[in-house]
Amino acid sequence: MFDTIVVGAGFAGSVLARQLASVNNKKVLLVEKRQHIAGNCYDSYDENGVLVHKYGPHLFHTSNKEVFSYLNQFTDWSEYQHHVLAVIDGQKVPLPFNLNALEMLFPKSMAESLEKKLIARFGFGMKVPILELTQTDDAELKVLADFIYDKVFVNYTAKQWGCSPDEISSEVMSRVPVFVSRDDRYFQDTYQVVPTHGYTKMFQSILDHPNIHLMLNTNYNDIVSVDAKSGTVALFGNDFSGDFIFTGMIDELFSFTFGELPYRTIDFSFKTLQKEYFQEVATVNYPNNYDFTRITEFKWIHDLQTKNTTLLREYPRDYKGVANEDENPCYPVFKDENVSRYNQYKELAVQFPQITLLGRLAEYRYYDMDDMVARALEVFEHKFA
Ligand code: UDP
Repeated sequence: MFDTIVVGAGFAGSVLARQLASVNNKKVLLVEKRQHIAGNCYDSYDENGVLVHKYGPHLFHTSNKEVFSYLNQFTDWSEYQHHVLAVIDGQKVPLPFNLNALEMLFPKSMAESLEKKLIARFGFGMKVPILELTQTDDAELKVLADFIYDKVFVNYTAKQWGCSPDEISSEVMSRVPVFVSRDDRYFQDTYQVVPTHGYTKMFQSILDHPNIHLMLNTNYNDIVSVDAKSGTVALFGNDFSGDFIFTGMIDELFSFTFGELPYRTIDFSFKTLQKEYFQEVATVNYPNNYDFTRITEFKWIHDLQTKNTTLLREYPRDYKGVANEDENPCYPVFKDENVSRYNQYKELAVQFPQITLLGRLAEYRYYDMDDMVARALEVFEHKFA
């Protein structure tokens, strides 16, 4: 009845399901354990009429024209440039930390001297990872590097990851570099947009194809079984020889054979205020105060005229494991020992060509939305086209 099973209706599963259904004319069974599509991009209008991202702010940004054109088929876009401020020493300064932040926090003459040095050393417009800046041999730049490291990264990272910035892959810190620039935007990509009617609507359109059969509220374990030793797949108790595309947790798929992979999750706390606006920009980070990492005010992202405003505070913590219903593994934890464990799973998985692993959880990778779409299209081209 079905040619292909896809588990998970986030970007990875939805894009691949769509390609298989529309280009290859395959009958696809798409299985999703939540009661909605769109994975962690899921959004909906709340009681204030504000379009909120239920699993934290999702800002689409890409310089990949192919990815942008691909998604263009499924949504209209609204221009949106994301701005983030970080509260440091009682002041709200632009993030990534840039020359404007420097001027706000340091005495004038020192700021001027630091600016000159940053520009001479790295070049105007360059992005410097904080872990690189802290290696500087210039005493004055070292003071700046240590200041930024302590005030922007140490405590935020302790909240977000439960460890210090040097205990986690340097890729993670590089996402928010020190920016030798006066550009206050969070991203500099060519295309910075949000789907005009929200991500969920865009996903509805991606999945709107007669060859895609969507089963919500369905744990894949209830209908599919995968033998961790032989890699054979059964659907409703019968051998299944078609492609099996899995975007869930790789450790769960292989029955935790090599132990559990750790993930971080976030407790999301939404709040309505009876006022038009609360803060100056969409997101304000609190690296050094409170238990939450940041507050997002969604009205800045989707420009809507509403009387009230909706805020989201994010409280990161360890993911407690599959046995706990409704736990949402948001982020793989990029430490060497975890990546080694993941590699054991990956070596097992490559023995089974029928199984394709794709996505943040299945590949234990920190994909942004655009990278995820690019990867899904690439896997389709290489393996299925
Ligand atoms: N980060 C930080 N302080 C900040 C913002 C980010 O230390 O004010 C670090 C933190 O470790 C975070 C990483 O940079 O996990 C990446 O931040 P990004 O905003 O890309 O995180 P996301 O929005 O994906 O959660």
